[in-house]
Amino acid sequence: MNTKEIIELENKFGAKNYKPLDVVLEKGKGIWVWDVEGNKYMDCLAAYSAVNQGHCHPKIIKKMKEQLDKLCITSRAFRNDQLSLFYKDICNLTHSHMVLPMNSGAEAVETVIKAVRKWGYTTKNIDEGKAEIIVCENNFHGRTLTIIGFSTEEQYKEGFGPFTPGFKAIPFGDARALENAITKNTVAFLVEPIQGEAGVIVPPKGYLRAVRDICTKNNVALVFDEIQTGLGRTGKLLAEEHEGIESDVTLIGKALSGGCYPVSAVLSNAEVLGVFLPGEHGSTFGGNPVACAVAREALKVLVDEGMIENAAKLGDYFQKKLKEISSPYVKEVRGKGLLIGVELKHDAGGARPFCETLMKKGLLCKETHEHVIRFAPPLVITKKDIDWALERIREVLIP
Ligand SMILES: *Cc1c(COP(=O)(O)O)cnc(C)c1O
Repeated sequence: MNTKEIIELENKFGAKNYKPLDVVLEKGKGIWVWDVEGNKYMDCLAAYSAVNQGHCHPKIIKKMKEQLDKLCITSRAFRNDQLSLFYKDICNLTHSHMVLPMNSGAEAVETVIKAVRKWGYTTKNIDEGKAEIIVCENNFHGRTLTIIGFSTEEQYKEGFGPFTPGFKAIPFGDARALENAITKNTVAFLVEPIQGEAGVIVPPKGYLRAVRDICTKNNVALVFDEIQTGLGRTGKLLAEEHEGIESDVTLIGKALSGGCYPVSAVLSNAEVLGVFLPGEHGSTFGGNPVACAVAREALKVLVDEGMIENAAKLGDYFQKKLKEISSPYVKEVRGKGLLIGVELKHDAGGARPFCETLMKKGLLCKETHEHVIRFAPPLVITKKDIDWALERIREVLIP
């Protein structure tokens, strides 16, 4: 089937909840992907950071195949020989005390909502049904009903109510707003260290440290959703390290499997995750042997192959070079590591046409919100690759 036939088939049978660029991919290696016509593209989205380690990383694929031949799933009704090893690796790497494995990022978010609520009821004597979680405006934490219920994006919510109560939204990047919003019923503050889907919004310097202090002072659990910012994307293993602090709970997903499998995890001090007793939470696929084997290898290559340092170094380079482009369309270039947003002026006609032109030039990226182009390639990208990308980006941004 050619591109047109495949797209027609997809449109005929598929729900229309996405509006993808019309490129049909069939193969990937490192930062490169190929479409069904044999055209080659640089992937500057990296599946929203799920494939930080690069497409089809040979070591991850090998580990996965080995595990597939041995044992795929047991459910958590029995133990498997991979789970404890995954626990040990992830806790050592992130200095966590306890971990709960799930599959999608949204499931990790749902899990932490349950955990901090119960933690609040058992340790803070909050009246039943009154627990409150503070979130930020323009947040993105996934697509389940509870999660979209506390989104401030109309498009994510419209027509889907009623929603789960117990959330309060405050402006992102404003520590004083957090201080003012906390009540005796507040159990947690859930926040992305950099807002990804909102358009790569970097908070003011010192914000993470300030909210850490406020949460500590008020006995509120600080929960970082690092599903997109974590695992090397911003040039540190976790974005919280940029301000030398530790959350109480951190959520990771996406690149935890190097893009090979849905694996997410809730990482916590022992106190918050310690609230779960047998039977109170679970997932059929969570912590299965394939997920654990793949995640261990994905973490190993991320560290062993210097991808985190590469993201820091080349992220700085990429951002600096983007800032040097003198374009009448660009309002701002911002980001950290290899999570970069180029915000276009609002009269530039939206980011989508720019992404479509870049696609024709062999560079795949995607608009986020209307006016931002996000550049977030796999962390294995080289300086030469970035120069190649910059050449194309310049052609599109300079009329
Ligand atoms: C992608 C993302 C999620 C949701 O992950 P899914 O695997 O799509 O459910 C949650 N939080 C953040 C910050 C994300 O970027």
